[in-house]
Amino acid sequence: MNIHEYQAKALLRDYGCPVSDGRIVLSANEAKTAAGALDGPLWVVKAQIHAGGRGKGKFKEAEAGEKGGVRLAKSVEEAAEEAKKMLGKTLVTHQTGPAGKQVNRVYIEDGSDIERELYLALLVDRVTSRISFVCSTEGGMDIEEVAASTPEKILSFSVDPATGYQPYHGRRVAFTLGLEGPAMKQCVKLMGQLYKAFVEKDMEMLEINPLILMPGGNLKVLDAKLGFDGNAMYRQPDIANLRDETEEDSKELEASKYDLNYIALDGEIGCMVNGAGLAMATMDIIKLYGAEPANFLDVGGGATKEKVTEAFKIITSDKNVKGILVNIFGGIMRCDVIAEGVIAAVKEVGLQVPLVVRLEGTNVELGKEIIANSGMNVIAADNLSDGAEKIVKAVKG
Ligand code: GDP
Ligand code: MG
Repeated sequence: MNIHEYQAKALLRDYGCPVSDGRIVLSANEAKTAAGALDGPLWVVKAQIHAGGRGKGKFKEAEAGEKGGVRLAKSVEEAAEEAKKMLGKTLVTHQTGPAGKQVNRVYIEDGSDIERELYLALLVDRVTSRISFVCSTEGGMDIEEVAASTPEKILSFSVDPATGYQPYHGRRVAFTLGLEGPAMKQCVKLMGQLYKAFVEKDMEMLEINPLILMPGGNLKVLDAKLGFDGNAMYRQPDIANLRDETEEDSKELEASKYDLNYIALDGEIGCMVNGAGLAMATMDIIKLYGAEPANFLDVGGGATKEKVTEAFKIITSDKNVKGILVNIFGGIMRCDVIAEGVIAAVKEVGLQVPLVVRLEGTNVELGKEIIANSGMNVIAADNLSDGAEKIVKAVKG
C-alpha cells in the first residue's frame, strides 16, 4: 500500500527526521490560507499523486511553457495561484502511464535552498531477506538511469537483523554521500530514525529522492515515498487509514472488498481462475495462443457463489475485455459452485462477449450440467490448452 508524500513526511517527522513545514490543500479556496501559514520567502507547490517524476511531469491541460507538478513560488499569492492551477488537473509522469492521474490534493511547503541533491532508500532485499540501504550522490534524478549508466555511483548493503541498525551503517552512507562534520552526524542519526520507522511500520520501501544538503550544512528530506506491506495492515490501523482509494484502479479496489486477488492488465481476454499458480499458467497459455490477458484474477480456494458473481462482474465491467476464459480446478472449490456463480453473474450483467469455461475436479459433472442446462451461450473446453485456443479463436477469429 502506498501513501502520499505529505503523509509520508508527517510520519517521518514523528520519528524526528528533518522535513519542511507544509500544508495540504484539498480545494482552491484553502490555498491562500495554507500558503499564508508558512514563512517563505520561498514556497514549493507539489501535486500529490501516488507516482514519482512529478517535477518533470506535464499536465494534460497545460498551456505552453507551463511547469510540471512541482513548482517554486516567491509569494503567498503566487503559491496559492499555482495550487489552484494544479487542482483537478491530470498530471502525466513517466510513472503514471499515458492516462496520467488526477490531482486532488496539493501540498504547499516551505521552500529550501539546495546545495546538493542525494539519493537514499531502504527496501526489503528478498535475496538476503534483510533490509537494505541504497544511497547515491546522484539524487534528484531517475535512480534507474543512474543504475544503468553509472552503477558505481550507487552503494547498497544490507543490515543484519540480529544487530539491527548500527552507527557504522550510517557512517558508511555518509562517507559515500561525501558528508562531513555536522552533516555526517545528522546522517547517522537520520539513518537510525528511518530504519526504526521502516521496521515498526511494516514498510516495504522507503525512498528519499532527493535528500538535500543545504548551504548551512544541514540535511533535509525533500521528497518521500513510502510503500507498506499490505498483509501487515491489520496491525497498522494508522497506516491503513492513510489509504487514498481515489489513487487506486477502481476494479482492483472493488475486488479487494470481496477479498479477490485481482490485478488489471492491458490485454483483451478476461480470466477467472482459482489459485495463483493456475492463474499464472492461464495468462501464459493465453499469450502462447497469441492473445493478451486483461487481468490476473485468483478467486481463491474457498470462493462462494457471491464472490464468483462479483469477480465476473468486475471482469465484464472492463471495456477492454473481448472474451472471458473461466478456468477452474475444483479442489476445495466445487465446480458446481463456480457454475452457479457464473450463471448468476451472467443473469445479472448479461454476456456481451464470448465465454469459454473449463472445469475440472470436484463435482465437475454437476458443474458442466448446470452450465449446459442454463441456456447460456457458453463454449465448453476440456483442458487448459483447449480452453485457451477456443477463447483466442473466439476473440480473434
Ligand atoms: P518528484 O519530481 O516527484 O520526484 O518530486 P520532488 O519532490 O523530488 O521534486 C522534484 C525536484 O524539485 C527536486 O529534485 C528539486 O530539484 C526540486 N525541489 C523540490 N522541493 C524544492 C525546494 O524546497 N527548493 C528547491 N529549490 N527545489 C525544490
Ligand atoms: Mg523526487
